[in-house]
Amino acid sequence: MSTQPIISVQNLNHYFGSGELRKQALFDINLEIYPGDIVIMTGPSGSGKTTLLSLMGGLRSAQEGSLKILSEEMCKATKKQLTQIRRQIGYIFQAHNLMTFLTAKENVRMSLELHDEMLNQDMDAKALAMLNTVGLGNRANYYPENLSGGQRQRVAIARALIGQPKIVLADEPTAALDKKSGRDVVELMQKLAKEQGCTILLVTHDNRILDIAVDAKRLVARHRIIYMEDGQLKDEG
Ligand code: ADP
Ligand code: MG
Repeated sequence: MSTQPIISVQNLNHYFGSGELRKQALFDINLEIYPGDIVIMTGPSGSGKTTLLSLMGGLRSAQEGSLKILSEEMCKATKKQLTQIRRQIGYIFQAHNLMTFLTAKENVRMSLELHDEMLNQDMDAKALAMLNTVGLGNRANYYPENLSGGQRQRVAIARALIGQPKIVLADEPTAALDKKSGRDVVELMQKLAKEQGCTILLVTHDNRILDIAVDAKRLVARHRIIYMEDGQLKDEG
């Protein structure tokens, strides 16, 4: 039995700017990611991690080569195709981007409202259940300003996962957190990914997170660590 990759990248190049200022940011990237994989991407600042992640998340349009997400070609994709794909992906960023004027529960619920098929379900109950899962059931009615950094990031995880996305992208999700919160956040993401069977792509240059990943790698075969340098993907390991 052969499984199709959930993301397949072939000979992908990417450029910023035009004319004299055109600068190549990604060089001949090749990568296959399978359902249930947990891929940790690391490498120095400016090496192209965010650029590659945003392409793999349909957040910007691929220019050259091939990039397939859920079997759809994203190279020169239309805005409509990108929007369609994004509905199936959960995003977690360094700055959690919660709405300050909505409570924790309302923030999580908002993400459900984007899914038409959810509109006739009890979205409040679902949002609350998800907050319970991330250990914040007792903070459902708090506004972000009254939550700690780690708690806000857990709300962001609840928001990203509630639509049961097939793919979750996280760009430096622990950068603003202390050691313990950072560890908790990553372990929580791993646990939820395993329960929901989703694929995780996580960018970090946080050594504490890499330690967890190296530990986890011994336990979970689907864990991979990949390394970017100067816009190129180096060998795994
Ligand atoms: P990383 O996430 O590894 O720090 P990035 O993907 O953000 O790296 O950046 C890779 C390279 O592309 C850097 O040289 C950066 O300056 C350049 N770059 C990133 N985004 C843009 C942009 N919007 N416009 C121009 N250059 C960019
Ligand atoms: Mg970056």
